Amino acid sequence: MNAGVKPPFLPYGRQVIEDDDIAAVVATLKGDYLTTGPRVAEFEAALAEATGARHAIACSNGTAALHLAARALGLGAGTTTIVPAITFLASANAIRLHGGDVVFADVDPDTGLMRPQDLTDALARCPGGRADAVVNVHLTGQCGDIAGIQRVAKSAGMRVIDDACHALGTNVRINDVTHRIGGNDYADLTCFSFHPVKTIAMGEGGAVTTSDPDLAKFIARDRSHGMSRDPQSFTQAEDALDGNGEVNPWYYEMAEPGLNYRVPDVLCALGISQLTKLGRFVTRRRALVASYDALLKQLAPHVTPLHRTPNVDPAWHLYVALIDFDALGLSRADVMRRLAAQGIGTQVHYFPVHRQPYYKAMNPNLMLPGAEAYYRRCLTLPLYPSMSTDDVTRVVCALKRAIRG
Ligand SMILES: *Cc1c(COP(=O)(O)O)cnc(C)c1O
Repeated sequence: MNAGVKPPFLPYGRQVIEDDDIAAVVATLKGDYLTTGPRVAEFEAALAEATGARHAIACSNGTAALHLAARALGLGAGTTTIVPAITFLASANAIRLHGGDVVFADVDPDTGLMRPQDLTDALARCPGGRADAVVNVHLTGQCGDIAGIQRVAKSAGMRVIDDACHALGTNVRINDVTHRIGGNDYADLTCFSFHPVKTIAMGEGGAVTTSDPDLAKFIARDRSHGMSRDPQSFTQAEDALDGNGEVNPWYYEMAEPGLNYRVPDVLCALGISQLTKLGRFVTRRRALVASYDALLKQLAPHVTPLHRTPNVDPAWHLYVALIDFDALGLSRADVMRRLAAQGIGTQVHYFPVHRQPYYKAMNPNLMLPGAEAYYRRCLTLPLYPSMSTDDVTRVVCALKRAIRG
């Protein structure tokens, strides 16, 4: 590195916006619709195509997607939903926002993913030994045993919500059949986020996919105040129809109050453009991950890549290294500061959600050893498609200095 020339800062994640993305947004901005317009349905069709989903409903962000999923499945007061402890706050909050109880499951200490046994153990801690649903989080873009999770869920009468905010583009092979995350072969509903650090960026954006037409219909209405303009759904003929039996052009009906979780046409234009690049982005992420894996071998055994689950082709939203800070005699905060001083951004995904003050107050004595062992060692290193292989080398050299220096 040239002395005196500061190399650019590498954040842990960021969007890649290209000229055609900008052109797509500008074209929509010059059109007739800022919010709901033709780009919304076009984006939904493109997302359904990309994931193999029967129905895709776009909404304002991933948290809204999870909240809509909780409402669609009726996970309100008197219900219990199991959520893994290592995830973003929203996976659990979405259930609480609808009034449902959350019971946290432990995770595999080496992947951060909930295993079928973790789900069974959490179920035993639920009131009456029963739960209504499980949120399965595909942390970093990997998946655990989705068939095993579904088996436990089905046998206990639980619905499955996939929190796939990390996993757009991830495939799982089960018995020689490839299943796309979002296709809902092993879930009732799948939620996505298009926040700038996720696999594709819309600024703010989210979506729910499902195979169930009734859930899809509910979510599409709930996203916009619970309003329906579908004449088939009208129940008040005397208000809906004129003297000739024609539908009154102004008329809409609401059976249940909903939210405003609509996503603007302008952002869907960006989403459509970004989705065309999903394959390229995922390929690039996988190549960068392979470079990290190879280079990190120099730092074994105290630094290792996240363990890999079998039969999964992850889209890799995050690159998480497991670092034995105790054995190195270093604090994670010191390592993060030393990396930041070398222009390397890092993060921790995640502080166990059951230890957030709000959840801890509900269950002060809950101990989840897998989540603790994962949390103690995890550090997220920079990963995004516009990084170069040299950037990966730079990160690993900086990490070597940070833990040896
Ligand atoms: C990003 C994320 C969300 C929330 O998505 P937003 O679009 O930021 O609201 C939910 N769950 C997980 C696992 C996430 O990473």
